[in-house]
Amino acid sequence: MTDGDPVGCHDCGALYRWRPVADGQRARCTRCGNVLYRGYATGPAPTPASMVAVTLGAVLVYLIAQCFPIVELEMNGLTSGATLLQAIGVLWNERMEVIAAMVFFFAVVFPALELGALLYVSAGLLRGRRVPGFHLLLRVVQGARHWAMTEVLMIGILVTAIKMTSLARVIPHPGLFAFGALTILCAVALRYEPRALWALGDHAGPPPPSSGLWKERDKAGVDNAAVDTAAGPPVACHACGLLNDCACEGRHCRRCGATLHRRIPNSITWTWALLAAAALLYVPANILPVMYTESIGGTGGDTIMSGVVLFWETGSPGLAIVIFVASVLVPVSKLVALALLAGTAQWGSRWAPAGRTRIYRMVEFIGRWSMLDIFVVTLTVALVRFQTLAVITAGPGALAFGCVVILTMIASAQFDPRLIWDALDDKEKRVEHNGEMHA
Ligand SMILES: [Zn+2]
Ligand SMILES: [Zn+2]
Repeated sequence: MTDGDPVGCHDCGALYRWRPVADGQRARCTRCGNVLYRGYATGPAPTPASMVAVTLGAVLVYLIAQCFPIVELEMNGLTSGATLLQAIGVLWNERMEVIAAMVFFFAVVFPALELGALLYVSAGLLRGRRVPGFHLLLRVVQGARHWAMTEVLMIGILVTAIKMTSLARVIPHPGLFAFGALTILCAVALRYEPRALWALGDHAGPPPPSSGLWKERDKAGVDNAAVDTAAGPPVACHACGLLNDCACEGRHCRRCGATLHRRIPNSITWTWALLAAAALLYVPANILPVMYTESIGGTGGDTIMSGVVLFWETGSPGLAIVIFVASVLVPVSKLVALALLAGTAQWGSRWAPAGRTRIYRMVEFIGRWSMLDIFVVTLTVALVRFQTLAVITAGPGALAFGCVVILTMIASAQFDPRLIWDALDDKEKRVEHNGEMHA
């Protein structure tokens, strides 16, 4: 990027001219408040060396976290412990394959993809080149990061451990500490945004010529200055943020290869359809039990709400509030907020666009936290295996709830925030047009 290049806002589609900002400073969109770019796009941070150090550390800690048991329970001389993969295996064997697959992808596969791709890309940047497949790998980082839920899993582990102290003696194992360290390193790695890395990659050398498989898109000198604005407003790539000529609709981004759209096709229809499915499933998710407990005292099922009430009554109001916020408040407010966004965008409302964009960003940010209860159910089911004393199994409510979380996450990804601003843009255009007519 050089001074004066056009830059597009991801959330509202407004166009700006790029100006250098100091290290640690952010350039924000004046109409929706979104961060357009950070000072380190040109400054010294993040250096490839620090990226390699952090991601390599995260990969090692990830391997420890996945290979060692997380906690062990001891009850009347019987012990029971599990690694995350063993816990997933228990769910799978109990015919809860869908929940097992969800946990496997969110807690095992997506973090591995994110960290692996990030490590490979930064190792290349350390040597001053783009690795073969650089653009594809950055899109993998971007996508995997959206679905990797290490921090949610960590809170789930803590909630489960605290919950289990009322039932048995809880002995921490290396997996617990490794997941704690992994959460911190992943938070640091969030700083390495794919958009900033794309900018770093533009200045790095091309991949070695032997890597013929990937060479088609790895041309040097891709920048926003090359866009032709004469034919109309350019289209910003939704993946890498690069501006493309307005004739590019439906074609591929000239840098990263993502399909270009002025707006996500059928965005509102898809959002409504996914929301309706999520709202329907939300009913069984709350009525059916998420867990069954079999113990000497008898057999019983727990719904999400009865679990919250139980925590409250047994003297853990903190846990009751955490589960209530993650499992009831977040999904309900997400459904309401997305319905509000889709409805107002569909009717072309001009009410508080900046506020509505902020609601959209909030929905994107909090959505993942609803998975907390699913992680707690998975770990509880795997840990409470004391033959005749107590056995906990997962119920159909957990399956319905997991589907609600995934459907609302896809719905918010399908909603195009630029639609919020279209009604205003249309009005501005009309005013301009009328002005010319009168002149
Ligand atoms: Zn904006
Ligand atoms: Zn792109």
